[in-house]
Amino acid sequence: MAKQKTSFMDTIVSLSKRRGFVFQASEIYGGLGNTYDYGPLGVELKRRVKDAWWRRTVSQRLDVVGLDSAILQHPRVWEVSGHVGGFTDPMVDCKTCKGRFRADKLEDARCPEKPSKVPGQCHGELTEPRSFNLMFKTNVGPVESASSVAYLRPETAQGIFLNFLNVMNSARMKPPFGIAQIGKSFRNEITPGNFVFRMREFEQAEMEFFVPPAENDTWYDYWRSERSSWYTDFGIRPEKLRVREHEGSELAHYSTATCDIEYEYPFGWGELEGVACRTDFDLKRHSEASGTELAYFDPQTKEHYMPYVIEPAGGIDRMALTFLVDAYEEEELEKDTRVVLHFHPEIAPITAAVFPLVKKDGMPEKAREIEAELRRAGFTTFYDEKAAIGRRYRRQDEVGTPYCITVDGDTLAEDVVTVRERDSMQQERVPVSEAAAWMRNANENWKR
Ligand code: ATP
Repeated sequence: MAKQKTSFMDTIVSLSKRRGFVFQASEIYGGLGNTYDYGPLGVELKRRVKDAWWRRTVSQRLDVVGLDSAILQHPRVWEVSGHVGGFTDPMVDCKTCKGRFRADKLEDARCPEKPSKVPGQCHGELTEPRSFNLMFKTNVGPVESASSVAYLRPETAQGIFLNFLNVMNSARMKPPFGIAQIGKSFRNEITPGNFVFRMREFEQAEMEFFVPPAENDTWYDYWRSERSSWYTDFGIRPEKLRVREHEGSELAHYSTATCDIEYEYPFGWGELEGVACRTDFDLKRHSEASGTELAYFDPQTKEHYMPYVIEPAGGIDRMALTFLVDAYEEEELEKDTRVVLHFHPEIAPITAAVFPLVKKDGMPEKAREIEAELRRAGFTTFYDEKAAIGRRYRRQDEVGTPYCITVDGDTLAEDVVTVRERDSMQQERVPVSEAAAWMRNANENWKR
């Protein structure tokens, strides 16, 4: 069973490299521990995931606005937020092989010398756990000194708290309202692993939703369910998702409730996103430390109050990995097996591939014309005239392209193409002028 699980992850890693989703970063120099580069299809996949998150969380709502704050902030920010003192993981060393592991995730780690064993069960003796700060340090300006120390942000959320007043006043918002941002975060993880699931440089999608304290519980329930349905609406199988409420002992000292939205990865259940009640902890701390009161003035009660905060915080890379793993199927057909990614059409990196049936009789020219028209209409397209048509279909199935459009003799005579749908493999004759509308309609009605 364990072997099967490992090999499924290997299949995903190898497909990612072969088809250009994800590459090992600095590969020609032997790679750098758990940093990855996204290739042409990976970058499109990530862009779709970010667009889908942004549309649903920001553009389609009146009560959430966006922000793009700096990665480098004043070093006081991270002292006040508690990250300098407390953003640590417990680390243990193996006295035999000198490997370093996260003490609270030992069951996920493997002994580098005996990969079938968990560290500590391989006869190596582990040290007592000690705290390891996960923040990357750097220096601002030409002189390296204690006063020039700065940190690469370990989360995007603090940039939102710092801009609470700027955004509220400039966008004329009032609680309940949210500020969302997507951006890079950096953590010097002790044991990175499982491909892009745990990296040292990754992208987060976070939203701080500021509410009157009395509405805290209602909004917590709302965001927990809204964030879970976002995944299933975009095709993730519901049986692979679960919401796990944190036990009291797991909660941060300022949090009244927190849950993890978890996915069942090939390596087991893992956190995909967290939804946390952060109370007024961050606004209060930054108000006290900066001397700027980060409060809302309620014109009705004529009182200032600190809103409470509900925070859905997800990782774009984990989302992209989840869409990839969840979409993958080796489907047994009558004569062979096809590899197919059942992406939601709005998540698929390529929406339409256009093929001439054969490379003659004006078909390539017509196919290029149609491809260019669809591209101008806003679709991400791909043109392919190499190999037999069946092989071209298979190549697109393997990267999850929902529609393949084939130009044949009838196209030239009657202006009709054959549109082949990825999941059902059904083909339909569609007038060229209706192809774009046909795809938009199919996107809207898509079901896993
Ligand atoms: P974990 O317990 O897995 O270390 P966390 O609880 O520290 O995660 P949060 O601080 O809640 O994570 O960050 C919010 C989200 O950011 C996570 O749910 C995850 O999707 C993403 N994330 C966090 N750390 C990483 C990482 N090292 N690599 C990729 N994504 C990450």
